Amino acid sequence: MQVNTPAYNIARETFLAPEDTALLVIDMQNDFVRENGKLYVPSSAKTVAPIEHLIKKARKSSVSVIYSQDWHLENDPEFAIWGEHALAESWGAEIIPELAPKKGDLVIRKQRYDAFFGTPLDYILRIRRKSTLVITGTVANICVLHTAASAALRWYKVVLVADAISALDDFDYYATLRQVDFLYKGTITRSRGIHFARKPSRREGSAP
Ligand code: ZN
Repeated sequence: MQVNTPAYNIARETFLAPEDTALLVIDMQNDFVRENGKLYVPSSAKTVAPIEHLIKKARKSSVSVIYSQDWHLENDPEFAIWGEHALAESWGAEIIPELAPKKGDLVIRKQRYDAFFGTPLDYILRIRRKSTLVITGTVANICVLHTAASAALRWYKVVLVADAISALDDFDYYATLRQVDFLYKGTITRSRGIHFARKPSRREGSAP
C-alpha cells in the first residue's frame, strides 16, 4: 500500500524571543543514537550536528536548554513493548557525549514517551516563563511527538525542527511533521532558519 504524505508548511525563518523560549533535546542517549545501543535509530546520526548547533546558539542567549533522558528501572512495563533500554545508571541511558549537558542546562528524567508525564517539566517551564518550545531529538513519532502533543495541549507554542528529529522509518517521520503542523498548529522549521532573537522590525521609511 502506498500513502501520500499530506502537505505541511515549513517556515523558512523563525524568530523566537530568547526569554520566552526553551530548547528541548529529547532522548539523545546512547541506546537510541549509537549503533550498539538497544533501540538504535540509524537516522539519528545526521541530527547530532543540527542539534549541537542549536544548543550552542541557545546557550549563548537566554534560551533554556532542557534535555529529556529516558530512564527506566528494572522490569519497567515498557520493556514488554521495546525490550530493555535506557536502564537507569547504564551506558545506554547516558546522553551522547557530543551533546553532553553543561552547567546551567537541565536534564529531566522520564519514564514514558511524554516528557511532561510524571516530571517537573511543566513547572520548570512556567517558573522560567517559557511559552515556546523548540523540540529536537528522537524518536520522532514516539517521545518527540508525545512531548510535542503534551506541550501543545498545555498551550505552549511548539516549534519542531525537521532536520533535528529522527524516526525508524519515513512514514513515522512524516506522520510526526503532519501531526504537529495539522493538529497542534506548531511551526515546522529547519535548524538553520531558527533565530533566538526578536524579529527585526522594519521602521517605516527605512530602507528595506
Ligand atoms: Zn523508554
